[in-house]
Amino acid sequence: MVIVGTVALDNIRTPFGEVRSALGGSAFYAGLSASYWTEVGVVAIVGEDYPEEGFRLLERHGVDYRGITRSKEKTFSWTGEYTYDLNTAHTLKTELNCLLSFAPDLPAVYDHVDTLFLANIDPEIQLRVLDSMPVRPSLVVCDTMNFWIENKLPDLKKVLSRIDILTINEGEARMLSGEFSLVAASRKITAMGPKTLIVKRGEYGVLVFGKDSVFASPAYPLEEVKDPTGAGDSFAGGVIGYMTRSRKSTNDVLRQGVVVGSAMASFCVEDFSTRGLENLSKTAISGRLSSFASLTSYPDLPPLDAGMKG
Ligand code: AMP
Repeated sequence: MVIVGTVALDNIRTPFGEVRSALGGSAFYAGLSASYWTEVGVVAIVGEDYPEEGFRLLERHGVDYRGITRSKEKTFSWTGEYTYDLNTAHTLKTELNCLLSFAPDLPAVYDHVDTLFLANIDPEIQLRVLDSMPVRPSLVVCDTMNFWIENKLPDLKKVLSRIDILTINEGEARMLSGEFSLVAASRKITAMGPKTLIVKRGEYGVLVFGKDSVFASPAYPLEEVKDPTGAGDSFAGGVIGYMTRSRKSTNDVLRQGVVVGSAMASFCVEDFSTRGLENLSKTAISGRLSSFASLTSYPDLPPLDAGMKG
């Protein structure tokens, strides 16, 4: 799969600590997360201030970074803060820097990829990438956020008309649709193009709306959450990585993918920046997936006439 998005240096403050110029960005988190499931390439731009450490980390996870351009400007930087409501990120500063001159040029080896993830980035760039692909990948997924809904709505709508799945935060689903009810929001958003809408609800998990179906997955209840940054991107990386590895986009595979994504996001939030995703063993991942299975399983209910009064 190929991921186009931001590779960033983040300044983050949560009630549990603070990091400055930390590794981050939508494509960076999604790439690390997906690398546990499938082969992945990242397309992005960084500035000359970007540390080698970022590339080494991708390399260690087998992520192909031939699509990351280095510019003479500064790296995209996001400064954000969370209060005790860790579900809501407060953006203090978005410094686009080198993103302003990003003209993505996908290496030719990506011409026939199965899956394209247009991670959170300027919708104009997402459009350019879609236009540049000689063959439409069989699965195209997109993520976005309030910043782009506010600043680039016409371009975002063009992107939405050409994708299969949209992943978006609860608040942003309401903002994009103008509807408070998520059911009503999903109807309006799927009418814009995507067949499936995944609404991310922070510690409350996700809701997946298809044409005639709804699926819910909780977030894993953790003892300690330090930094929710990147949870959405790690979630998406897990879902899409799993679907790509399965080579199918059926409803069952999507549901399995959503649980995989939720498990990957749960590792991400346990530490600052990308630390929670950096050293995961197969045992740790499968252990968390089994915990997820027991979290959501319950025995079949008895027939109604046996279980109800009157
Ligand atoms: P999330 O998974 O939603 O927590 O995404 C966190 C990442 O999104 C951070 O590492 C930021 O660098 C990145 N980010 C923040 N604002 C933007 C933006 N406007 N466009 C693209 N990426 C962003």
